[in-house]
Amino acid sequence: MSLFEEAKKYIPGGVNSPVRAFGSVGGEPVFISKGKGSKIYDVKGKEYIDYVCSWGPLIVGHSNERIVSRLKEVIENGTSFGAPTELEIELAKLVVEYVPSIEMVRMVNSGTEAVMSAIRLARAYTDRKKIVKFEGCYHGHSDSLLVKAGSGALTFNQPSSPGVPDEFAKLTLIADYNDIESVKKLFKENKDEIAAVIIEPVAGNMGVVLPKGNFLKELESVCKNEGTLLIFDEIITGFRLAKGGAQEYFGIDPDITTLGKIIGGGLPVGAYGGKKEIMEMISPVGPVYQAGTLSGNPLAMAAGIETLKILGEEGFYDKLREKSNKLWEGFRENCNKLGLKFAFNCIESMGSLFFKEGVVESFADAVESDTKLYATFFHKMLAKGINLAPSQFEAMFVSSSHSEEDIDKTIKIHYEVLKEMFG
Ligand code: PLP
Repeated sequence: MSLFEEAKKYIPGGVNSPVRAFGSVGGEPVFISKGKGSKIYDVKGKEYIDYVCSWGPLIVGHSNERIVSRLKEVIENGTSFGAPTELEIELAKLVVEYVPSIEMVRMVNSGTEAVMSAIRLARAYTDRKKIVKFEGCYHGHSDSLLVKAGSGALTFNQPSSPGVPDEFAKLTLIADYNDIESVKKLFKENKDEIAAVIIEPVAGNMGVVLPKGNFLKELESVCKNEGTLLIFDEIITGFRLAKGGAQEYFGIDPDITTLGKIIGGGLPVGAYGGKKEIMEMISPVGPVYQAGTLSGNPLAMAAGIETLKILGEEGFYDKLREKSNKLWEGFRENCNKLGLKFAFNCIESMGSLFFKEGVVESFADAVESDTKLYATFFHKMLAKGINLAPSQFEAMFVSSSHSEEDIDKTIKIHYEVLKEMFG
């Protein structure tokens, strides 16, 4: 019996997060036994250059020595106390220092939890109920946000999920990414009722889709004029596009920011932060309840601190950008050489090749991609030792541990695979 068959006997679908099951690309998922730097190894010992990077957190690669040695030190002193520790202050200070709009931050255990809490806070702060999200953006699996979501929800063609009461879903209004008019229309129809607009400033869960022109600036000003909070979900873009995330990159001042992935350095952490006046509405200072047995866990804090310190070193993002651009350019050249006109979106160290000709600037564009072609591409890359996300609608991530050699090898294999498919 394969490990997958065995897993399926005890775990629904054999996995603890749906997209891992290879549902949209077919076949059986690879079971991983270890990772080091840019590489992961399956249980049979096969090596892969990894561009999933645990879906984004591992911006410094797998089992980074500094993180591992810090974790070993911290674990000797215990794994959880349910009482404040100095590590929580240290990570909070780094977040406040790095992310321009964050004056105070609360740690939680996942991105889902961060977003769910941010929405509650925004509703309490504005005393309004409705929220606006964008079709194809994914913000975790809490009830209010599992409406026209991307990522696994998109891969599995479940724009929303049974079990989400209609009454909740009705409070979530859907706008089109990169279409400010669709936002303005919702504000017109729901005057003084919208607590928050939540957005992935660069969408990463319908594949990578970049904000066009002044879209984010306009969104910021619409929200300000309407007394609505702007929530930047920077769970992917935070510490990835720049030290200060997408808000620094694009010069936007959101009211609340949600963080996850990189902030935990590969351990389970999420966070939400923003202006002091808003954040002080949270319990125990204010009336908005939110808590967590393991929140601020010392191991998770230590991994986050070490990661953020590495990101703060001179030239970190310059080097990562150089490496990423080399890869993206290589991909583009490969497509050009083969006369392929597929859309390729990238920014800094995140990118997506869409099996769709022309541009991908919206959810409607993204879903025109040929997911069967992606599945073939994915399996051919995997067979040659390149690990990509098992879905068209995800990003690939470059880490600081990817070497020149990794990048060159990946470009070469990318060419071979596309040639086999289209040459
Ligand atoms: N928000 C964004 C933008 C994400 O990409 C994700 C996860 O992929 C989440 C929220 C949910 O985070 P988590 O999976 O840690 O609950």
